[in-house]
Amino acid sequence: MELLFEKPVLLIVAHWEDEIIHAGSALLTQGKDWTIVCATICNYRLFTKKHFETIGKDLGARTETLNINQRPIALKDFKGTIQQYVSQVPCVELTPSLIMQKLLNTGIYLRNYATIITHGFDGDINGHIQHKQLAKTMSVLVSKEQNLYHFSWNKLTKLFITITPEQYEKKMAYIRLYKPFENRVQHRPEFYIQGE
Ligand SMILES: [Zn+2]
Repeated sequence: MELLFEKPVLLIVAHWEDEIIHAGSALLTQGKDWTIVCATICNYRLFTKKHFETIGKDLGARTETLNINQRPIALKDFKGTIQQYVSQVPCVELTPSLIMQKLLNTGIYLRNYATIITHGFDGDINGHIQHKQLAKTMSVLVSKEQNLYHFSWNKLTKLFITITPEQYEKKMAYIRLYKPFENRVQHRPEFYIQGE
């Protein structure tokens, strides 16, 4: 079934680029006036914030990045390579209390949204720990009266978004903004599951 999200919609993802990789089709078809929240500041890829903001502006959506450093130590204070930094410094845990506090600080009130969309419990494509944490956190914070949707890789789900060839091209162009040096940019059809 073609999924039509009830507005107002809040899309909350863990990292810059997750919004377009996981929800690009939804954004391109329905994203005008949505609020897109990125939960963390990626300390070693700060430049990607501008792509996040450009895409939001282009789609007519509000973008906000919560003031949460993805890792507790800044890269500049770490003695080692980026690879060592990523593998040795664990990510901050995205707990319900942390996300709630940071949303409030940003002036975002969950209760103002009819629909909240976020990661899947399995952590999606790369199984990232913060994707899993955010899935759990939003299922705690979102009330029963609201619609909660999770990204899904399971094509057996009945909810999906279809896009036109033009929208597909635009989505790929947005993904390439983040990944200009990758020859093979991944695209996947978008499926969602309804959370509780
Ligand atoms: Zn991510």
